Parts: sequence; structure tokens; C-alpha cells
Amino acid sequence: MYSAAVVGAGPAGSTAARFLSEKGHDVILIDRKEVVGVPKQCAEGLFSDCLPEFATEIGGFITGKIRYLEVVFPNLASYRVRCDLFMLDRPEFDQHLLKLAERSGAQVALGEKAERIDPESGMIRLRGGETIRAEAIVGADGPASRVAKSMKVKNRLIPAAQMEIAWPEDDAIYAYLDHDLCPHDTGTTQKSRSYSCWVFPKNERGTANVGCFGTFPTLERFVSKYRIAGDVVEKNGGAIPLGVAERLQRRRAVLIGDAGGLTNPFTGGGLYPAARSAKIAADAIDRFLRGETERIEYESRMRRDFVASGLHMRGRNALAALSNDELCRLGDAMDGLVFPGLRLSASPLLVYRGLRHPGIMRPKYAPLLNLLFRYCLAGKVW
Ligand SMILES: Cc1cc2nc3c(=O)[nH]c(=O)nc-3n(C[C@H](O)[C@H](O)[C@H](O)COP(=O)(O)OP(=O)(O)OC[C@H]3O[C@@H](n4cnc5c(N)ncnc54)[C@H](O)[C@@H]3O)c2cc1C
Repeated sequence: MYSAAVVGAGPAGSTAARFLSEKGHDVILIDRKEVVGVPKQCAEGLFSDCLPEFATEIGGFITGKIRYLEVVFPNLASYRVRCDLFMLDRPEFDQHLLKLAERSGAQVALGEKAERIDPESGMIRLRGGETIRAEAIVGADGPASRVAKSMKVKNRLIPAAQMEIAWPEDDAIYAYLDHDLCPHDTGTTQKSRSYSCWVFPKNERGTANVGCFGTFPTLERFVSKYRIAGDVVEKNGGAIPLGVAERLQRRRAVLIGDAGGLTNPFTGGGLYPAARSAKIAADAIDRFLRGETERIEYESRMRRDFVASGLHMRGRNALAALSNDELCRLGDAMDGLVFPGLRLSASPLLVYRGLRHPGIMRPKYAPLLNLLFRYCLAGKVW
């Protein structure tokens, strides 16, 4: 009988396993893969303010640094925000976090798939028939989580397509807002439609991750419309959860990271939420195992965190509702602005000018402005 069994050794699971075993608990961390982190399903960007949540030193998993986020509108109008962002080598990052978990004393079992989970008894049946029992189960098994299924939770997912292509040295990552790229993607409602594509350069590798919310036909329309070209090194993709799961806990089982739908639906960034939810879950399980609480008090605590706020989704819905004409008008109002940072104190004059601009101050943009204001207050975005 283990104190805790963590299913999934991605960034969320390895971090939760490490935090729990550092607190002195007997932890097993299982993953169906023999080698974690491959194939890569990530644009590999992590704002530097978010790295401390993983409680790790900077290491060889960083492949470059970026100084600006540039938002590009369909008419090619754009604005920049000064930011510090690390480009990661995701496979190396995942393997580094796994090593930290192992070093902290967690027992690691790779190549082991959890097939059946019972949140009531804490029992996990593995593919080979072996069973594991634990006082607490941490579901960190990604967007199509088995642990979530065992709790009768189904994450709402949106596809993301990506390719890594040759790219010259660059100081910015680019977010393209364009609503007309995915008219033919099937199964998309307006709110889940693709409206955003990205280019994330990896300077040390001389490449960039070019991707979109949507499928490969959308990605092809994006690169062709914006004339983005370079030799293709690899193609990848995955699913991104669209909204926090209806339930994050049932009896002995909790959901963290993508398994709990905690990825930011506005940006698609899920690494910071993975670490944040791992920490909150590890604290709640620790208190339960020490007998300080009668049950694992995770869900209520997690839902109070800004990571799980409905504001991200409202921001996404507001952006998804804008037509390309509206995006172009917004682009004209913002064109050429350079915000010196994400803190309100960084450029009060610019913020004041922006907020008084008739092209930016429209009631339908309110959820977007509200969200950006909250990111400024938090001093980070992810
Ligand atoms: C195309 C794309 C680009 C992205 N770009 C970024 C970005 O630039 N920045 C950012 O912050 N986020 C990005 N994200 C999101 C980010 O990759 C995820 O949020 C992050 O990987 C979540 O970590 P996790 O540990 O919760 O899940 P995962 O990384 O999915 O790890 C889950 C682990 O569970 C294992 N597993 C699954 N099922 C089982 C089972 N039954 N038994 C045992 N093990 C199992 C898997 O093998 C895997 O190792 C992107 C996502 C996509 C798809």
C-alpha cells in the first residue's frame, strides 16, 4: 500500500510525485511510456515568471530566450509586449522533472499503463493485470485521462496542429489572430473554433514551432496566407483541454494538469497550471495523510486559484466571437504599440492611452481587458 500513486509522469505528475515524496510520503509514479516527453506535443514556451512554480534550477532543458510577445492581426497590424520567455526542449524538460522525482525518493514505473482506477478504494489495475493500492491517487495522465474517466469526468478538448520548421534568429514569439482560417474544420462550434496560430522560435536550434488551435488543414491555410516558410523538421500535435473539468476530485482521486482541464483556454499554456495544481494537490494530500484533514481538501482550494478561474474562458469566448473585420479594427487601434511589460506600473501612460482609445474601449472587449488586467495584477501570463 502506497501513500500516493501518481498516474502520468508528464510535468504535472513528476512535480506532484516529487513534492509528495519530499514531504516524506511513500509514492509511486507510473507512466505508460518507456521514455517520457516524446513525441513532443508542445510549442515549448514558458514565461520565465512561471518557472519557479516547478521549484527547479535553470538547466540544459532551456534552448533559448525570447524578449517580446507580438500579437498580429489579419491586416498584419501588430503590437508587442516586452516579456521574458524561455524556450524549452520539452522532452528534456519532462525527463529532468522525472529525474528530480526519482531523486526525491519516488518509485518510478515506466511502461506501465493504468487501465482501471477505483477512486473509492484507491486501487489501480495495470495493463499486465498487476494492481497497486494507494491512500491517494493523483490523476496526471493528460487530456484524455483515464483517472478522469473513472470519476465520470470527460474533458472538452480542442485539437492543436504543429510543425517545427527552420527559422532565423528572432527576439519574439508571435500570436496570430485570424478567424477565417478554419471554416472547413469539422466538429467545431464558434467557441471552439481556431482563432489563433503561433510561431515560437527556438534560436539555439535555428527552428520554430509553428502551430494553431485546429487541425493540419487549418495550419496549412495559416502558413500559406501569412507566407510562413522553412524546411519542415517534424510535425506534431495534440489535444488541448477547453475549460476546467466539472469535477476535480472524487474520494481518494484528484485531477491535476491537463487531466483536470487546467490548461489556459485563452493561450493554450498548460505548463504553469501543471506545476501549480501539482503543488496544491501535494499540499492537500500531505495534510490528509498526516491526519490533519478528514478528506483530501483539493478541489475547493484549486477552484479558488486564478489558474482555474472562469475569466480565461470568458476572454477566449470574447476573442472567438470577433470577426476578422473587428480584429482588423482592433489591430489598427493597437498597431505599433510596444508595452514595456506585463505589470501595470511598467507603462502607466501607455495603459492610460490604450484604455481611452475609442477603438479599444468597446463593451464587447470588456472580458478581454478584464483578463489582461488580471494578468498584469498577477504579473504573469501562461
Ligand atoms: C500543440 C501544443 C502546443 C502546446 N504549447 C504549449 C506551450 O508552448 N506552453 C505551455 O505552457 N503549454 C503548451 N501546451 C500545453 C502543454 O503541453 C500541456 O498543458 C502539458 O503537457 C500538461 O502536462 P501534464 O503533465 O498535465 O500532461 P502530459 O504532458 O500530457 O503528461 C501526461 C502523461 O501521462 C501519461 N499517461 C497517459 N495515460 C496514461 C495511463 N493510462 N497510464 C499511465 N500513464 C499515462 C502520458 O504518457 C504522459 O506522459 C501545448 C499543447 C499542445 C497540444
